[in-house]
Amino acid sequence: ARRIRMLDPGVVIQRPFNALKELMENSLDAGATSIVMSVKAGGMKLMQIADNGSGIHLDDLDLVCERHTTSKLERFDDLKSIATFGFRGEALASVTRVAHVSIISKTADAKCAYKAHYADEKLVPPTASDTNARPRPCAGNKGTIITVEDLFYNISTRRKALKSPAEEHAKIVDVVGKYAIHNSGVSFTLKKHGETTAADVRTAAGGTRIDAVRAIYGAQVARELLELDGTEPKLDLVVKGLVSNADYSMPRGTFIFFINHRLVDCPSIRKAIETVYAAYLPKKTFPFVYLSLLMPGQNVDVNIHPTKKEVHFLHEDVVVETVQKMLEAKLLGSNA
Ligand code: ADP
Ligand code: MG
Repeated sequence: ARRIRMLDPGVVIQRPFNALKELMENSLDAGATSIVMSVKAGGMKLMQIADNGSGIHLDDLDLVCERHTTSKLERFDDLKSIATFGFRGEALASVTRVAHVSIISKTADAKCAYKAHYADEKLVPPTASDTNARPRPCAGNKGTIITVEDLFYNISTRRKALKSPAEEHAKIVDVVGKYAIHNSGVSFTLKKHGETTAADVRTAAGGTRIDAVRAIYGAQVARELLELDGTEPKLDLVVKGLVSNADYSMPRGTFIFFINHRLVDCPSIRKAIETVYAAYLPKKTFPFVYLSLLMPGQNVDVNIHPTKKEVHFLHEDVVVETVQKMLEAKLLGSNA
């Protein structure tokens, strides 16, 4: 039988953005079309995420934060898919070990929403003077609101390893923006909690991917994009992308790479793409590259881990070459 690795929660959640990324993926898994997030002090004081997804049933509220409880396995073809996602049912559990968590959720068939508080994977009463930990009825719309407060309150070494609130905030903005581009049909909003300044990320529901790029990286980037859209049946590979044309370049490039809907880094793909562009772009300028690959789950490195940035997969050389050829053909075509 396949062993599901136990992970130290401090390893899964190293920085605020790791936690928010897991929460975003849960909202997307729940079929949300709107995800509204607010954060305070780079996510260290507070991260709140509200979605309009399926919601969590009252009976499940005492289970969702327990390690290895997931409602999702039946959706995957077989156990091999566990490898694709690296781990299941650990994200919420991990967050409750390193922060104070509360959940308000309502399913479509429930009469009202319920609110529950968690610590160390268990339901806890809302305040210290209270003894009742059961979820309580409250007002709310269909969907889920998760609030994470005082991240790493109990792990001072982790707290000390964090960068400044401004830098942690910038990393959150970066990751949310990338998910908003990949999931361009879903509306994403990210703002600083309690501040009236403009949102850091705002995309519209039902927008195109180019709309999302425009909203996040600006009109100039969005204007100069080529669409990649291809398949390689022999590898069961689907390639989609939006990439700069040969006329556009920035002093700092952007590389957004999703594999099977997870944001990852893949040095071999990155290098191959840079090599192609080097023939077109002026020196010291770089392209905007958004690339999404879909491939059979069992081909992706089983060691893919939520905190591991780099990913490897089966037939990596052939896949890289396929992408490189697609890009070359596009750039040649646009340059003619
Ligand atoms: P996993 O996503 O691997 O199942 P998580 O710890 O991330 O594990 O979440 C545990 C469970 O909590 C999920 O399987 C899901 O049933 C439920 N859940 C978490 N977030 C949401 C959400 N935003 N909407 C609906 N259900 C959720
Ligand atoms: Mg999850």
